Amino acid sequence: MSSETPEAVNAAAERTRNTLVSSTPESGSKPAASMVPDPALTPASTQAIGEPAADFEICSPLAGIPVDELTDIVSAPYAPPPAGKEDRHHGIDFAFYRRGDYTSILGVVVQAAMESKVVMVLDDSFPYGNAIMFETVGTALPADIRDTLGIGEEESLYILYAHLSDPPTAALLENLPACEQVGYVGESGNAGVPHLHMETRIGPSGEVFKGMSYYITQATPDEHTNYIRWRTSGNFIHFDPFILYELHASSLLSGDADEVY
Ligand SMILES: [Zn+2]
Repeated sequence: MSSETPEAVNAAAERTRNTLVSSTPESGSKPAASMVPDPALTPASTQAIGEPAADFEICSPLAGIPVDELTDIVSAPYAPPPAGKEDRHHGIDFAFYRRGDYTSILGVVVQAAMESKVVMVLDDSFPYGNAIMFETVGTALPADIRDTLGIGEEESLYILYAHLSDPPTAALLENLPACEQVGYVGESGNAGVPHLHMETRIGPSGEVFKGMSYYITQATPDEHTNYIRWRTSGNFIHFDPFILYELHASSLLSGDADEVY
């Protein structure tokens, strides 16, 4: 087991994508704007790996909260730390106390943001709590997302949701369609109040995390190693999740944005 702290690991290796700004998708390469309002009705995709779908969907992480309303419920924004550092905020927190018919974000359905493969399932593991991670290979992504985020050959987009109410029921390596229900907002792990923590990174394709934990004595060496691999190794570069939604929103300007979930 390495005794290195997360702060010390490969500080120089972290290429920053923090300054990325949303660019207008190239004309002709925009993903279709069609969205499926009801996740239960989303058909399983028959798309082959490596062939970007013409109707690529990006779904709100929270059922009932449309993509264009996500900025209203940010309780902690993406606050990128200096290269290779563990501190500050690697993702976005979504939370609210009262919104529409909801009296709390606790228990709101969490759904997959895009067609992806489950590459981590955590059962109440500190600090992420009940958590799930997804991989979508770069070649399956629309060109505008690949270009804006600089996703290269043999790289993938990874998305992590943390602090769910219960351990995810999805199986490791299971393929899920966009908008598939994967759990409920909770406050497991290092969460003071109910919220959804969403983290997005670019990393090498084909990575799987069998466990991930840190800061507690019960964490195994493998869980430690995986935490560092994900957080500060420099191999998984975090970026603002809203880049995805800004790209998607821009593609919706001429479409039926009222169907976005
Ligand atoms: Zn967070």
